[in-house]
Amino acid sequence: MDFTLPVIDASESRPRRPEWLRVKLPYGGQYARVREIIDRHRLHTVCESARCPNIGECWGAGTATFMILGNICTRSCGFCAVITGRPTELDLEEPYRVAEAVRLMGLKHAVVTSVNRDELRDGGASVFAMTIREIRRLNPDTTVEVLIPDFKGNWEALQLVLDERPDILNHNTETVPRLYPTVRPQARYERSLELLRRAKEAGLVTKSGIMVGLGETFEEVLEVMDDLRAVGCDILTIGQYLQPTRLHLPVVEYVHPDVFARYREEGLRRGFRHVESGPLVRSSYHAERHVAR
Ligand code: SF4
Repeated sequence: MDFTLPVIDASESRPRRPEWLRVKLPYGGQYARVREIIDRHRLHTVCESARCPNIGECWGAGTATFMILGNICTRSCGFCAVITGRPTELDLEEPYRVAEAVRLMGLKHAVVTSVNRDELRDGGASVFAMTIREIRRLNPDTTVEVLIPDFKGNWEALQLVLDERPDILNHNTETVPRLYPTVRPQARYERSLELLRRAKEAGLVTKSGIMVGLGETFEEVLEVMDDLRAVGCDILTIGQYLQPTRLHLPVVEYVHPDVFARYREEGLRRGFRHVESGPLVRSSYHAERHVAR
């Protein structure tokens, strides 16, 4: 018996990506070397797990953002492509392997993020601390940026990370507070601000980022900027949300590059010392430039 499946033209129901979101293919430069180092050290990267559009550019330039604590996340944010589930492992040798990969890649600035591990008592904060120590031990001249989760507001856990004094402490607010119930249902806007406030109070350089195109207004983005400046945030990233699969939140709007330029102006006017704003900007995009400033 012969069954013929109906052909569905996916392009009809999706708005076409505008020209300014075209990206390089993931090939060339040092891409293969990064691939080999990541695989050989059994590491995960947010570049792959979150399907970042910049992977061709970043890996081709020999850099990547490490994702520690496994690749299964205990949360289910509406925007994120990382797999949700119940993590099964806690790999305490991972910090050493990350540090070794940083060494082999010759990174001047290493960026480390993680999945959420809400089932762990400290949310994985002690593994972040170990990873910072190991990177510095093997790479004394490398600066370290950590993009951390909110540890469910466990400030003792946060302190474990702050005590290691990373060169940049990054925590994303991700979107405007009105959209938290759909975009970050298990997170709290005020909690994220409090985390950044505590990091600033500890004397660290702080950084945060949001995605636009999820239905927020221009004014709401400016209000987030004001809130971030009120807790002393130094560096801001703003990029276009891209729907990773059909199961994730749809793109409401492709924000024009001119609007990103206005966001940058508004951010600088509010006193951020660096604002990276553009359609393809991600938290770790050109991260080495932020520390240089
Ligand atoms: S922008 Fe960040 S997450 Fe994306 S490919 Fe570059 S380093 Fe990886």
